[in-house]
Amino acid sequence: MFIQLISLSLQSIGKSLNSPWAVKLLILVSSFALAACLPVANAENSSAELPLIVDPVSLPSPVLMRPEQTETSIAPTALPPTPVATATEPPPVAPRSHYTLDATLNYELRQLQVTQTVDYLNDTATPLQELVLVVDANQTNNVFFLQNFDTTANGATASATLNGRYLSVTLTETLAVGARVQFSLSYLLALPAEQSSLGYWRQTNMGDWYPYVAAYDAENGWILDYPGQVGEHQTYPIANYDVSLSIENTVDDLVIAASAKPYKQTDGTYFYTHANARNFAFSISPEYATKSVTVDDIIVTSYYYPGYETAGAAALEATANALTLFGETYGAYPHDALDIVIADFGDGLEYDGLYFLGESYYRTYGGNSLGFLTMIAVHETAHQWWYGLVANNQAQDPWLDEAFAIYAEYLYYERFEPDWVDWWWRFRVDRHAATGNVDSTVGQFTNRRPYINAVYLRGVQFLHEVRLSIGAEAFADFSRTYLQTYQGEIVTPDDFWDHLAAYTTEAEISRWQAEYFSSQ
Ligand SMILES: [Zn+2]
Repeated sequence: MFIQLISLSLQSIGKSLNSPWAVKLLILVSSFALAACLPVANAENSSAELPLIVDPVSLPSPVLMRPEQTETSIAPTALPPTPVATATEPPPVAPRSHYTLDATLNYELRQLQVTQTVDYLNDTATPLQELVLVVDANQTNNVFFLQNFDTTANGATASATLNGRYLSVTLTETLAVGARVQFSLSYLLALPAEQSSLGYWRQTNMGDWYPYVAAYDAENGWILDYPGQVGEHQTYPIANYDVSLSIENTVDDLVIAASAKPYKQTDGTYFYTHANARNFAFSISPEYATKSVTVDDIIVTSYYYPGYETAGAAALEATANALTLFGETYGAYPHDALDIVIADFGDGLEYDGLYFLGESYYRTYGGNSLGFLTMIAVHETAHQWWYGLVANNQAQDPWLDEAFAIYAEYLYYERFEPDWVDWWWRFRVDRHAATGNVDSTVGQFTNRRPYINAVYLRGVQFLHEVRLSIGAEAFADFSRTYLQTYQGEIVTPDDFWDHLAAYTTEAEISRWQAEYFSSQ
């Protein structure tokens, strides 16, 4: 996730960067801007601290479809012009936990009725007597309504208790390592009218909308971090998804962006499969225009609002280039599609197979790569590797994805904009006070700037120093083999250090740990 709250246009500044005074001006002006990561729920708190923000009231007025607006024209069987993948059947999938989500969206009411089946594979190293599901949708009142939990599916589940954002499931028998248990539940989601990843405004967003079984750590048990005041907090186990989405009480021209392309479509219903993935997200709007390109058989689609054709195309191009570069550098992108979705909320936010990119980036796009639209598009694309393929505990070890994602920006500029690499360092890193420990947790911060300075900026300085020390070729090999070793897993800092140890000396590692890290 990445955030940028500047509302100044960088266009004129970027065009005149050849003169030294302009560079100074840029540094001065951009010192008021802030690039950071935070949960969407905290956007209001944080933006109050900043002199220059994207003011929600300056956005074009959204047309809200509130529940009481029952007279709106309705086309029950409208077929959204959503791109459909050419595959007609789901691909074969590896043995994983499996989620089947049958969802019906009442578009007029913005309510989602879901029947969910979980086929959980105990891929931990521990026999389990209970399961804990993360229900982020229930962290605020009146959004998630559990209707039924089927404890009789195969006699294996005894009871289920929903307590805030956690659903505890007691098993009738201990679930052995490698064994499976199935259960189902149904619930209603009443999406709030807010500019967030789970809510609606100009767009209807469904991110983190369903309960999933938490990741499990052999030492500490279930990984159940609460949202912090900065950053993200979830730890996503990898799983397979089958999702159907039906839309009732719809409007004309709805367009659906999702973590995967539908492999089948019938009247008003879309069928998706998403294998070996961290999550499944949707975003729907009647206002989306789209542009697509195919990169090595991957369909990349940019969803944007009318008026942002140039920026929407630029986000698409940056993402396509980044997919190519990171595919070569790290390893193959694992899915057959990636969606870029303009966001009503600020910042960038990654999901597996889809990422959001704040509208402010489109508005301030200056016609070239020198700005946040390109940087954050590249950053969120990099999260498809460092978050998607190799996951981590985002609350406790955020550097394990964020430092890699921001360093991927540097690699992008080095490849595609070599004349602007120095600019990238100045703009992105050097103008801020990069201080703090790379291995800080999100819970250590109450606002974003110090968090970004520590985890991202010290993180990118650290990774760059590693690359300079071991050489670009060895660093590329380290990145590739690290990905190969840990893809599908949830890495820990120990995994990182163990892997790096093969590429450098103990003395170098000790020196880096002393300089950049707190707890090694
Ligand atoms: Zn990020």
